[in-house]
Amino acid sequence: MNPIEEIKNRLDIVEIISGYINLQPAGGNFKAVCPFHNEKTPSFMVSKEKQIWHCFGCDKGGDLIGFVQEYEGLSFPEALKLLAQKANVPLPQFNFSRQEDYGKLYNINQAAADFYHQKLLSDKAPAQKTREYLANRQVSVESIKSWRLGLSGEDWDELYLYLQKQGFKDEDIFQAGLIVKKKSGAGHVDRFRRRLMFPIADSQGRIVAFTSRTLHGIVYQEDDIGGKYVNSPQTVIYDKSKILYGWPLAKDAIRQKSYLIIVEGNMDTILAHQTSAKNTVAVSGTALTLDHIKLIKRYTNNLILAFDGDAAGSRAAFRSITLCWQEELNVKILLLPKDQDPADIIKTDPNLWLKAIRESVPVMDYYFQRILAGVDLSRSDHKKIAAQKILPIIKYLKSNIEQAHYLQLLSDKLQIPLEVLRQDLGTTKSFLENQEATVVKVLQNKKDWLLLMSEQILSMAFYKKEYLDKLIAEVDPDILSPELQGLYKKLIIYYTKHQHLDNFIDYQELDKTDKEYWIKLSLLGEANYSDFNASDLFVDWQKAVNLLKLARCKEQHQILRKQLTQAELTGDIIKVDAIVHQINLLNNELNKLQR
Ligand SMILES: [Zn+2]
Repeated sequence: MNPIEEIKNRLDIVEIISGYINLQPAGGNFKAVCPFHNEKTPSFMVSKEKQIWHCFGCDKGGDLIGFVQEYEGLSFPEALKLLAQKANVPLPQFNFSRQEDYGKLYNINQAAADFYHQKLLSDKAPAQKTREYLANRQVSVESIKSWRLGLSGEDWDELYLYLQKQGFKDEDIFQAGLIVKKKSGAGHVDRFRRRLMFPIADSQGRIVAFTSRTLHGIVYQEDDIGGKYVNSPQTVIYDKSKILYGWPLAKDAIRQKSYLIIVEGNMDTILAHQTSAKNTVAVSGTALTLDHIKLIKRYTNNLILAFDGDAAGSRAAFRSITLCWQEELNVKILLLPKDQDPADIIKTDPNLWLKAIRESVPVMDYYFQRILAGVDLSRSDHKKIAAQKILPIIKYLKSNIEQAHYLQLLSDKLQIPLEVLRQDLGTTKSFLENQEATVVKVLQNKKDWLLLMSEQILSMAFYKKEYLDKLIAEVDPDILSPELQGLYKKLIIYYTKHQHLDNFIDYQELDKTDKEYWIKLSLLGEANYSDFNASDLFVDWQKAVNLLKLARCKEQHQILRKQLTQAELTGDIIKVDAIVHQINLLNNELNKLQR
């Protein structure tokens, strides 16, 4: 048995998934509200018997390792390693070269963070001046330590030489993003020099990258060729669209307060943590992404986005807000005074910041304020445009009560009768409707009739063994939808040999698509038919098989008719005879099927 099989054998998928989400028994299976998409009624299913899971809402599915990968956001080797520890299975003969590289990159970034931090704590003049600057910005000594703030080297190769001395290889240091190739000549130099360093940790607290701020004009007078901020590049361990700055230090407070605040800067985050609002994180240089939201939703559904006056109207802000809405997060907006960031406010008075948090408003109220700000109520065209902008957003609200509330508000503000607005709302499209309609259409096209029918009979066969035997005896692979023929053929071979389908998931002939279909269809039968009695099940089975055979016959009938016309035209009497004979056979079969 290989280690993967061993791990899967020792662990139970139901037990492991229960550690993450709340599984409810349902028939012989388990159900839950899917952790990977938004839903109210559970469509996430786990089969204890088959040790697989699938969500019929978002179509994700897989085995135990796949779940841990998806949920924890891990690579395959990482998930395997985690489960190997749980199962107490050693993984010696496994090639973990990629995993090892990752490990090295974390170590290098950690070593760099230590190096920078020690440099900032030293008694050299630049370090003292930098600490003075931080003190002026009211960053406390405790914060410098807990956020591991640092100072990069004076010379071009201080970190590089230090890391070499620690035994790290050039190529690894380069991969970690800490050195760059020299502009002329061979060799490398440090990426960061004479800068204030902010280490960036991933959700598990491992340092994966750095943001740096120039100290030009503060500590050093000589020109700095970099920008105000210089960041680590994207690396195998650093993807900024997945990182929320401060997450490891904020997550307990987020859980406790059951909301989080998102700001834009590192300094904003650090200063916010010096107040009682430790549930603060930052996105760096990107709009909020789906990966961010996935991480957030494991802790809370409530968030406050802090924007300064200009940024709030930006496209990036709108993207973040709509994404939150699509994922059904409750979003409030904290609007900052123009040209002020959270750090400025906190510096003036931490209580002002806490007050601003309390006064943050639901997104809708914010849109009202914003859209109505420029409206001249004496002008009908102004009112019309304002209504056109706000109605699609109201339409999007899922709750009727909320819709009624904001419709009334709009009526009051615009001084337009409620009834008129309600009529307009009826014909307005929600601002996401078009988008959603396209998605649904694509899905429908993809699932044409033949595929649906084929899925149905396979799902029944995977659900009840007697139908599996019937399937193999009665149904030729080529009457199924082409997507499923491969899986079915491989299944026949496997089943004929073993007389069961245990471990079919690990059958090496299966490709990725086969496996996905197998998992999905194995659970689909149980989902659809667990409350059917035997005779209803049989009726459904017979109907589906007949329909598929009928479709196949009709298709062949058409082909034969075309061939017949051809043969008649060329006067090939023998061929005409043969085709007519085949058509007669087919007609008999059609009659039988239609009876
Ligand atoms: Zn799902």
